[in-house]
Amino acid sequence: MMRCGKKTREGEQYSSEEAARLAGIAASHELGHQLLHLLHPFGQKHCLMNPVPMFAYRAWAKQLSAKDCALGSSKEMTPGAHRFHYEQP
Ligand SMILES: [Zn+2]
Repeated sequence: MMRCGKKTREGEQYSSEEAARLAGIAASHELGHQLLHLLHPFGQKHCLMNPVPMFAYRAWAKQLSAKDCALGSSKEMTPGAHRFHYEQP
């Protein structure tokens, strides 16, 4: 298991309530990959699908804006942007 201490997170430390809220937002990011096949719009700070820089979840979440990064607003944020490939064993 990889441990990500507050030093890694640029000093961010979370209460249990904030950690739960941020985990829910991060889960939404992962569901965007699994259910909508979205990609990472790197550097687009308003997008939920922009990866979290250095595990600093608070700073990441603070910049998110559905209004400024709607679904379909870029190639990466368009459902089906990623195609999964499966090979038969
Ligand atoms: Zn991702």
